[in-house]
Amino acid sequence: MPIPTENVGSLPRPMKLQEAIADYDAGKITKEELKTVQDEACKDSIERMEATGAPIISDGEQRASSFATYPLADTLAGTGLADNLAGDGQYFAIFTDGHHRQLPRLTAGPFRYKTYAADYLTKAIKMAEKPLKQAVIAPSMLYLLYPLDGEIEGYTREQFMEDLVNECEKDIRQCFAAGAQRVSIDFTEGRLACRNDPNNPWTGRKMLEQFIDLNNRVLDRFTPEERKNIGIHTCPGGDCDSTHSADVDYAELLPSMFKMNAGYFLIQLASEPDKERVYKLLGEHSREDANGVPQICFIGVINPQNPRVETPEEVRDDILLASKYIPVERLGTTDDCGFSPFSIDVKPKHGSPDVARDIAFQKIESRVKGTQMASEQLGLN
Ligand SMILES: [Zn+2]
Repeated sequence: MPIPTENVGSLPRPMKLQEAIADYDAGKITKEELKTVQDEACKDSIERMEATGAPIISDGEQRASSFATYPLADTLAGTGLADNLAGDGQYFAIFTDGHHRQLPRLTAGPFRYKTYAADYLTKAIKMAEKPLKQAVIAPSMLYLLYPLDGEIEGYTREQFMEDLVNECEKDIRQCFAAGAQRVSIDFTEGRLACRNDPNNPWTGRKMLEQFIDLNNRVLDRFTPEERKNIGIHTCPGGDCDSTHSADVDYAELLPSMFKMNAGYFLIQLASEPDKERVYKLLGEHSREDANGVPQICFIGVINPQNPRVETPEEVRDDILLASKYIPVERLGTTDDCGFSPFSIDVKPKHGSPDVARDIAFQKIESRVKGTQMASEQLGLN
C-alpha cells in the first residue's frame, strides 16, 4: 500500500470572498448573496484540489469563520454569534508578528454548537468526485470559552465539560454520517499550552495534560475501527503567514500528545529546524497500539507559511529520512498546517490570498508526487 497523504483542511479564501464577508458584516449584502460567493469558492477549491492528484481532499473550509470558531459564529467579526456567548473572550493565541486572535466568552449554559462541520461537508460532497476529509475543532480549544477562574452562575465547569464532550462527539459522528472518509481534530493549542506567555494568561497554567484528558473523553466514545479514521493535527499555529509557538520544543509536547487514542496524527514538520530529531521523537513516542489502533504519523512536508514551492524530490527525501525512525506502515505525509485557518487572511508573504491559493495547489501537487516517489522507492506500491 502506498504511503497515505492528506491535507489539514483550509485554503486561503479568494479576495472576492473576503470582501463579501466584510460586506456581509457591514450589512451591505444578504446571507444568500454571501452563500453564492462561498459556493463558488468551495467549488473552485474542490476542483483544483482534485486536479492535484490528491487521494483525499477538503472544501478548503471556505464557509468557516475559522477552524476554531465555525461552531460559534458566522464570521470572524462575530456576526451570528451562538447563544450564551459574548464576543470578548480570552486570546487563544498571540502570534510572533504581534497580532492576536480572540475567542468568544461563555456567559451562561447550556453550551451548544450553532453550526456543525457536517453542515459544510454535506454541501461539499455534492461538488466532489474524490473522497473528502473534514477537520473539526478540539474540545480542548473550546474549553477556553469557559472563564479560567471561578464558575459561571448556574452552570458548573463539569456541566460545561459534559456538554462540550457531547457536542464534539456529535460534530465528528455527523461528519462520518454525511460521508467523510476521515475526520481530523485541530489541536493547535496543544503546543501553545507548553509556552508561558505573560500576555496570554492561559498559556502559563500548564493545561496540556488537562487538554489531553478532555480530548480522550471524546475519543474514548469511538470504537477502534472508528478511531482509525480520526486524527489529531498539531502545529505552532498558522495565520497571516505567522506562528504562535514554533519556539516550543517538540520533546515537551509529543510524549503527552501520543497519549491521545487517535489513529493518526497530522504533524507540522517541514518548517522545523531539525527534522531528523523530530522524526526520531515520533518513532519513540507514537504507539503501535493506542487502545486498539496503531498511531500513524503523517509528517509535514509542505510549509504553508512560505511561498516557495517545495519540490517533489525534497518531499521524497524527507520521507526517506523519516522512514529510518518511523515504521513505514505507520508513516504518512501532510502539510504543516491548513493554508489559511482563519477566513480573513491576506497572506502577506505571498502578496495576496489569490496568489497564495495558486501556490497552495502547487504545493499540494508536490506533496502528492513526492509521496508517490518515496512509496516507489520504499517498494510500497
Ligand atoms: Zn495548524
